[in-house]
Amino acid sequence: MEKSVNVVGAGIFGLSTALALQEQGYNVTVFDRNDYSKDNYGNFEIQAASVDQNKIFRASYGKKLHYQRLAMEAREKWEALKNDLFVPSGMLRVQPTEHLGVLETETLGNMERDGLRHRLFVKGDVNDESRAIEQGWDRKLLKFSIPGSETTFAEVLDTTAGLIRCSESCYYFYKTAINAGVKFIFGQDRGCFDSLIRERINGNEAKITGLCTKDGVSHHAGTTVIAAGSFSTQLIPELSYHIESSGGSVARFKVNPSDKILWDKYSPENFPVITWKIAGRDAAGKDVGSVYVFPRTEDGIIKIGYRGVKYTHFQPAPKNSAYSQNGQWSIPAGPQLKPPQTALDAIRHFVSIFLPEFKDTPYFSTKFCWYTDSLDNEFVIDYVPSYSDYSSFVCTGGSGHGAKFLPVLGQHAADIFLNKDKAQTPLRSFWKWRSDAPRKNGLEEGPNSDRNLTKKMVI
Ligand SMILES: Cc1cc2nc3c(=O)[nH]c(=O)nc-3n(C[C@H](O)[C@H](O)[C@H](O)COP(=O)(O)OP(=O)(O)OC[C@H]3O[C@@H](n4cnc5c(N)ncnc54)[C@H](O)[C@@H]3O)c2cc1C
Repeated sequence: MEKSVNVVGAGIFGLSTALALQEQGYNVTVFDRNDYSKDNYGNFEIQAASVDQNKIFRASYGKKLHYQRLAMEAREKWEALKNDLFVPSGMLRVQPTEHLGVLETETLGNMERDGLRHRLFVKGDVNDESRAIEQGWDRKLLKFSIPGSETTFAEVLDTTAGLIRCSESCYYFYKTAINAGVKFIFGQDRGCFDSLIRERINGNEAKITGLCTKDGVSHHAGTTVIAAGSFSTQLIPELSYHIESSGGSVARFKVNPSDKILWDKYSPENFPVITWKIAGRDAAGKDVGSVYVFPRTEDGIIKIGYRGVKYTHFQPAPKNSAYSQNGQWSIPAGPQLKPPQTALDAIRHFVSIFLPEFKDTPYFSTKFCWYTDSLDNEFVIDYVPSYSDYSSFVCTGGSGHGAKFLPVLGQHAADIFLNKDKAQTPLRSFWKWRSDAPRKNGLEEGPNSDRNLTKKMVI
């Protein structure tokens, strides 16, 4: 039984970790209440951040060299798959003004440090622009006028970046995991986590010996891994200090292939991922406010995301939650809750500048996609200290940037799982259980914040 592992959640964190642990000789069973064997991760109404057409791949992380390096490690793996799950469309990072922002100059510095600077093109830099022409990237160094001004926004075209086809990647890794021997139990009853099985030892200390699913079946295992994304606090309330759910606003347009001009213009061959920082850093040094767009998919979907405000959804917290604010915590809402008008207006403003043809086009669809925000944007991948015998492990806290790491995340998580403080991964210290870390990154705001949707009752 010691070599058996339960993993709850078949999203990116669960899949990647399950596969890596199976490869390390464990017998891994993955549980998910969504039946991905039926929809192949293709039902975009499902509440899981990993179930999505596309996510940005980037290695640009300002001063955070550890993520830059992890992203480049992942990029190699994506490319080695040779299956187009990673699309090297490039990414155009448009600045709030005609000057480069601090985050961008930090990124340029760290790219230089790792010998990657030649893969980035700064608009207006004569050497960069002629290199872009030589390499055929100049068509993606698009220029956008600053409204009400004679000048254009400063920008950097990053050719290390692009997008991943997210749902298709999950499906690919799900199949790979099955081939490696991972067992999957899916469904609202059979696959849905109900409770942890606790065995009390040494007085107060508890050991987790497995989990019960909604159908009443007990599944015993040496370690139970919770990788349930933004739902994780509801499964293991000890996490409630460390992570919080918040809604990212997403809107989509649909282009018809018969509209050849738009179809070609917004194809990944001609159009990069674009992110636009609406504003520079705030007084506290935090990067705020961006909107991003993807090139169209093969189905003609153009997806735009607004990261200016990540909306919280505070609800009464259960009595056993380790942490709450005014007795509440923020958890994902159902699909009926749609992004508020302020978010849609911000997206519309972005569209008027960057996709002018769609200025007055009604959205094809809008939705919330739920982030798992952590205290500091670092993931939380570690044993839960309140349970003995290394019986409970968490793997979550994607904070809006975990998808790109799918091919490598699990290997680093498995290193931590196996070797604890002796793990070789440089990510160990960043992903540790951080009881002493201050509650920051917006998690300190609580239910009285204007970000709280339940305060505004926008349903
Ligand atoms: C709006 C938005 C934009 C993002 N953009 C990017 C990006 O551009 N680039 C990037 O790299 N990353 C991005 N991310 C982050 C990335 O999507 C996440 O880090 C990643 O998908 C999280 O995966 P996960 O496995 O932790 O969670 P999820 O994908 O949410 O998976 C959790 C799984 O747990 C299951 N589950 C939940 N409760 C239970 C239960 N009780 N029983 C059984 N199963 C359960 C769910 O069904 C789900 O399948 C973005 C995230 C959001 C929200």
